[in-house]
Amino acid sequence: AKAAGRNTLRFFDPEMQQAVSARAELEADLRRGLQQQEFQLFYQPQVDADGHITGAEALLRWQRPDYGLVTPASFIPLAEESGLIVPLGEWVLYTACRQLAAWAANPATAQLELSVNVSARQFHQPGFVAMVRMALQQSGAPARKLKLELTESLLLQDVDDTVRKMQALKQDGLGFSLDDFGTGYSSLSYIKRLPLDQLKIDQSFVRDIDNNVNDISIIRTIVALAGSMQLQVIAEGVETASQRQFLLQQHCRAFQGYLFGKPMSIGHFMRLLTSR
Ligand code: C2E
Ligand code: CA
Ligand code: CA
Ligand code: CA
Repeated sequence: AKAAGRNTLRFFDPEMQQAVSARAELEADLRRGLQQQEFQLFYQPQVDADGHITGAEALLRWQRPDYGLVTPASFIPLAEESGLIVPLGEWVLYTACRQLAAWAANPATAQLELSVNVSARQFHQPGFVAMVRMALQQSGAPARKLKLELTESLLLQDVDDTVRKMQALKQDGLGFSLDDFGTGYSSLSYIKRLPLDQLKIDQSFVRDIDNNVNDISIIRTIVALAGSMQLQVIAEGVETASQRQFLLQQHCRAFQGYLFGKPMSIGHFMRLLTSR
């Protein structure tokens, strides 16, 4: 009886209490960080078959006091649960659009494209399309250079709403990329219904190219599929020359990964551009 009694008191387990308060603290700190403008965008180059930089993916970073530069894995899930992803994602989009507008104003960088990650909760907000249009309008960024990266699970949540929103934004010239492609469960007939422009081969398939026969056939299939659907294809997580070589042999012509550059501050990215 005593043991059972102890079990019912597990709620007061100090470890659990610690976890609950760490969560609350993180959420409060996220809110504060957003107000204090502690977030910044990093830029990871995307390159073509010749190694020329064609654009970048914007990746969120948080300069969190006492923690240093924090990557999204430790705060995006809570930002999604708490709804803070909505103002945070809005900040990301406005910041990305301002950067695109700055690139567009200079002939040396006017051809650069920018890919921005969008989370499900953010995309399915009623005002999402209007928010994106406002960000483009206020910044003067060219919509044709902006690509939104969506995941399969986001697309599956409400297909009608998704297609409607994608079509509305595509009329403005925006592009859409299906991120982490190959890790979800989408049927091909369903993918075909979506007005996508690009498939992004997930880095888990690229990682094992050098030794995993299964992943090699998956990559072949994805590239062939993209070709038959007239979609661009880009491989992410490319770290070695032999991975790049294999992907080239499979007719993949766009790459992103540490081999070409890690995500970096805008200052570093601009220096990388001019050093080439
Ligand atoms: P993702 O969209 O799949 O982004 C690619 C991740 O792989 C990035 O991690 C990037 O730093 C990392 N990466 C790039 N090249 C390589 C490589 O060659 N090798 C390896 N091992 N990793 C590589 P990061 O920046 O930590 O971002 C993690 C995830 O957080 C992203 O995954 C994305 O889902 C999410 N995220 C990032 N920024 C945003 C944002 O602004 N909004 C939303 N909603 N999510 C974001
Ligand atoms: Ca992405
Ligand atoms: Ca990805
Ligand atoms: Ca991923």
